[in-house]
Amino acid sequence: MKILLNDISIIPVAGGTQIIEKGYVAIEDSLITDIGNGQIGTDGYDLVIDGKDKVVMPGLINTHTHAAMTLLRSYADDLPLMEWLETKIWPLESQLTAEDIYWGTKLAIVEMIKSGTTTFADMYFYMDEVARAVDESGVRACLARGMVGVGPESEKAFVESKDLVNKWHKQGDGRITIMLGPHAPYTCPPEYLKRVAAFAKELKTGIHIHVAETSGEVANTIKEYGKTPVELLKDAGLFENHVLAAHCVHLSDNDIAILAASGAGVAHNPESNMKLASGIAPVPKLLAAGIPVALGTDGASSNNNLDMIQEMRTCALLHKVNSMDPTVLPAYKALEMATVNGAETLGLGKEIGRLQKGYKADMIIINLEEAHQIPRYDIVANLVYAGQASDVDTVIINGKIVMENRIIRTLNEGEILKTAKKIATRLVN
Ligand SMILES: [Zn+2]
Repeated sequence: MKILLNDISIIPVAGGTQIIEKGYVAIEDSLITDIGNGQIGTDGYDLVIDGKDKVVMPGLINTHTHAAMTLLRSYADDLPLMEWLETKIWPLESQLTAEDIYWGTKLAIVEMIKSGTTTFADMYFYMDEVARAVDESGVRACLARGMVGVGPESEKAFVESKDLVNKWHKQGDGRITIMLGPHAPYTCPPEYLKRVAAFAKELKTGIHIHVAETSGEVANTIKEYGKTPVELLKDAGLFENHVLAAHCVHLSDNDIAILAASGAGVAHNPESNMKLASGIAPVPKLLAAGIPVALGTDGASSNNNLDMIQEMRTCALLHKVNSMDPTVLPAYKALEMATVNGAETLGLGKEIGRLQKGYKADMIIINLEEAHQIPRYDIVANLVYAGQASDVDTVIINGKIVMENRIIRTLNEGEILKTAKKIATRLVN
């Protein structure tokens, strides 16, 4: 299929901050085949999209979530982390069936597509069902089966992770990538992490893990092992693989040096960290150290949405007020974190995250003809500081139109909402 976007503003996010005021993007099958200034002839295209009063940019990349936790959205809020987990989240989570995970993931995907996310990194359970939902929806995803290093599930996690790789890695027209998902240093003892590191090497996968989310976690790790969580991961050999480290809120200068030398990427989740009062990750310091820092929403029970436009705004505002410096994280940097940096942290930096010839055709078309988008002195600042999920008009992933004029083509949105409500009623009864 050949698609042409004509007469459209373009934010390529392809190095530099330049914006094409009026240009075109040509797509053939899954790839961007041409992009530039002005307009080109429309002959030979199966579909031509008129981009007047619209801007196209790379699809947003949510680098840390637990998609099916949409089913737990607003079930429990405003509680301390451990009380929240132990008395509310874990008991309800333990009732989730494979079928629930499938529908909860689909609910998440509807929300993500409608707010401009084209790729997400997920860590949860019943991942076969998550992969099925991803496959059907046309979205791109990096999936990891959560691995906990204690209890009866600890060995099963290896078997299921390998099955997941064999069955789903690079499936769905190449949209699905499988990673290993050791939950965190505080749920996976060092010996277990060493085995995970070796297993990732054998399977040639990346590793997605929660790191240094709370100050309590760091204090306990130091007390038990005499080292920080990041030091512990290094000694376990984790960084010999590509690592996606979620949170990284409480880091020492030595931790930052280790992360910078390791090539790991960080998934920053400002809204979840704020809501659970975990703290503020040292993002400007991480970026200055050359670490790719991307954005994530975390699960919908600690956010409580999967809206990456909001996450960009929160990120930019949080670090300004935290440093008392309005220049510390400009709008364009937040946009880069949600796109190019997202791709890099997932190990997909040569395929997605920017609009450039030869890259995958993952992009979102945003409607600028809304009161809050006018005037248009700076469309990036408008998008980050004034943009809304509902401005996302059309979503293209892997060269396929997944949403057009806010109608999702690949999923039955009404059926998904109805089923999710039914599951929620069952869960609380
Ligand atoms: Zn998480």
